[in-house]
Amino acid sequence: MTAEESNDARRRHSRCRDCRSGARYIDYKDFKTLQKFTTMQGKIHSRKRTGKCAYHQRKLVQAIKRARFLALLPFVSKG
Ligand SMILES: [Zn+2]
Repeated sequence: MTAEESNDARRRHSRCRDCRSGARYIDYKDFKTLQKFTTMQGKIHSRKRTGKCAYHQRKLVQAIKRARFLALLPFVSKG
């Protein structure tokens, strides 16, 4: 195992940024923040890209979908 791999393993097991800040839920009305977790086409970034744990990724996806329903975020965009 190289030093780089062990670093990766540690990062995967460490808690995500939301865990460290103690965020219990992600605000679906805060579309400017949510927008940072979507691609130009409006797709949601993968967990690998967002760096969130499974729990907070689920919260993020739920928030983005709510924001889409309220037309705060696009379902799809040509960018
Ligand atoms: Zn988390």
